[in-house]
Amino acid sequence: MPARHSWEIPLLVVVILLTVVSYLVAFLLLFLGLVNQYILLLVAAPLLLWFGRGVNFSSQRVNGVKMSPSQFPEGYRMVQEAAARFGMASAPDAYVVLGNGRINAFASGHGFRRYVVVYSDLFEISGAAREPDALAFIIGHEVGHIAAGHASYWRQLGMFLVPFLPVLGNSLIRAQEYTADNHGYCHRPQGAPAAMGTLAAGKYLNSVVGFDEMADRAAQERGFFVWMVNAMSSHPVLTWRMWALRDRSRHGKLFWRPDPAPPRFGPLPGQPRLRGTAAMRSRCPKPRADPGGLRLPSGNRNPAAQSNSGLSSRVRLSSKKCG
Ligand SMILES: [Zn+2]
Repeated sequence: MPARHSWEIPLLVVVILLTVVSYLVAFLLLFLGLVNQYILLLVAAPLLLWFGRGVNFSSQRVNGVKMSPSQFPEGYRMVQEAAARFGMASAPDAYVVLGNGRINAFASGHGFRRYVVVYSDLFEISGAAREPDALAFIIGHEVGHIAAGHASYWRQLGMFLVPFLPVLGNSLIRAQEYTADNHGYCHRPQGAPAAMGTLAAGKYLNSVVGFDEMADRAAQERGFFVWMVNAMSSHPVLTWRMWALRDRSRHGKLFWRPDPAPPRFGPLPGQPRLRGTAAMRSRCPKPRADPGGLRLPSGNRNPAAQSNSGLSSRVRLSSKKCG
């Protein structure tokens, strides 16, 4: 299984404890006769979250194009493969929704159902993505959110306080994003540069983004405001995220910029040190013939042929709003 970010569980425990305490305080204050919007919000949180997730899911069910062997078959197959690779008992539903130029994807759930949503702009050019590996990475990232439990109702209820904890809450969300990136990398390592390039420069110019050059800047850009932008962000800033995808020897940085020290695990004696996409290919895990025991659909088997908490209850690809 892809690595879970080392800070994810410790931060999750702290956030859940704070959320539980806030629930208890809200009930106590309500019992004592004190009523305001925050107390009501907390007391009604289980119902509001359940309602929000139900509306989100139904919106995809009635408006989205459901991926299937006959509709967006490349994406459908990527979802099946990612779920199998991560050992999931069943693959989540997957929908394509109108992107209108926006680049995004998210994962969520309702009841026992889990689903991913991919904006249509990631599927351009006659049904096949411009960068199929990037799409596979993105789908691996989203399915990874589900495999890691990020789309669980109980987990999101335990994280209900996140929007009110700007630094602590966002740190937990960033740790989750690094975990999901690890899943995307496990699913399609060679798709990471183009996926990050797409987030940086869009679907038409992703291939001109210098992955190494941009990742290098993670160590070069420094100062208080750089720190603050990352600390307040729900997703790791892009340069740090690229750095983490390039340096697979350690977890992505949550609070302090990466330092240019060499990777902890260097190349074997006699082997050259690889960087960027070359290193990614060299560490690409070999897919199993039948990963996880999940039966893969027949059909085209050539993959190249083709915010986060609270009421929103989605775990997204990027910090850009879904609209
Ligand atoms: Zn994500």
